[in-house]
Amino acid sequence: MNPKKADILIENGVVLTMDEGGQFQRGAVAIEDDRIAAVGDEEALQGWKAKRVIDARGGIIMPGLVNAHTHAAMTCFRGIADDLPLMNWLNDHIFPAEAKLDVEKVYRGSLLACAEMILSGTTTFCDMYLFEEAVARAADEAGMRAVVGEVLYDFPSPNYGDIEKGFAYTESMAARYKDHPRISVAVEPHSPYLCAPELLQQAAELSRNAGILFVIHLSETKSEVETIRERYRKTPVAHLADLGVLGPGVLACHCVELAENDIALLAANGVKVAHNPESNMKLASGIAPIPELLEAGVCVGLGTDGCAINNNLDLFSEMDTAAKLHKASHLDPTVMDARTVLSMATIWSARALGIDDITGSLSVGKRADVIVVDTRRPHLTPLYRPASHLVYAAGGADVDTTIINGRVVMENRQLLSLDVDEVMDAVNRIAFEIGGAAYRPSPRDAN
Ligand SMILES: [Zn+2]
Repeated sequence: MNPKKADILIENGVVLTMDEGGQFQRGAVAIEDDRIAAVGDEEALQGWKAKRVIDARGGIIMPGLVNAHTHAAMTCFRGIADDLPLMNWLNDHIFPAEAKLDVEKVYRGSLLACAEMILSGTTTFCDMYLFEEAVARAADEAGMRAVVGEVLYDFPSPNYGDIEKGFAYTESMAARYKDHPRISVAVEPHSPYLCAPELLQQAAELSRNAGILFVIHLSETKSEVETIRERYRKTPVAHLADLGVLGPGVLACHCVELAENDIALLAANGVKVAHNPESNMKLASGIAPIPELLEAGVCVGLGTDGCAINNNLDLFSEMDTAAKLHKASHLDPTVMDARTVLSMATIWSARALGIDDITGSLSVGKRADVIVVDTRRPHLTPLYRPASHLVYAAGGADVDTTIINGRVVMENRQLLSLDVDEVMDAVNRIAFEIGGAAYRPSPRDAN
């Protein structure tokens, strides 16, 4: 057997590994089956033969981006209502629209999210929503890597009914996807304000016993902190710490309103954080103390949150925002440098999801989740430092090729795993059914 034989060879690009391998100016990546077989400069990859060669044309070859927090099916509500106070937005627009959801709509909305993510270089996402089995199915069909979890809360769910059935639903999904190469399941209680202490503890127990991730919205707004203080006389973070819920298998989303002691608690317990700057800005929730969390040694990943809030799933614009937001709020251009933000969107997000052993960087033996960013474009010329362009100049539409688990799912901006027109038409029909959509689907649209 020739050890230098690969299925795919991506060559003629700047390789950014996002691990100790660093950067190769004229580099290449060899993919064998679902794994990265070799990565290095042209010299190191000399002699490698592949069935399929992808010419990166001087572009950037890097790990696929990892979206640490989203609600994929919320694509159905993209732009349904904006510029409103959080409670009006939720009560008058989002909750009534979500009441019309069913498994089919969540499936179609998630397919659209997957299309958008693949087209903008995201290869993995962590999801929380209703009818999550439909999200898993959509991610699987799209060829994406995903961590999925059914949202759990105190009141009956339109999907599973009472909370005990919610736990049963989560457990059966976890069992079903146990050996899946790309999909894994998390236990996802919504938040400390919608979940009783018993629910949170039961979720933590399931997370530990089954070895699955625990995902929760935490300290997202001032009003959440006030509510939890009224109920339990402590901060949301201290509340979870006292319940024995916090630990290294916990992913806390948002963490905007943190007291100093909260940061110490998150760090001491090895809790991971998902930062969603555009969502926090648009809902005027505030600015999460990310430089302070990083300084304390907390692993922080980057997420877009749902499309009804953001209103897109493009992690490139999220990186740009993350870098600039903290510079402005600290009046210090050195905080959140491009390299830090890029780590947040790749290897740290993967670590936050507990899957950095298989994705998040271009290392030999890891699964082949690789993207190629086309830099032969006016707004990306010349190219001095790849990290700078990726954070401050590039957008999702500059991604030319997306490979997930060794499979090419997008090439030359053509989505190969899904019929993108069919996916868009289906969500247009859903929006029309929900009401208020500006576009009325016509019979000319494909079915
Ligand atoms: Zn969220």
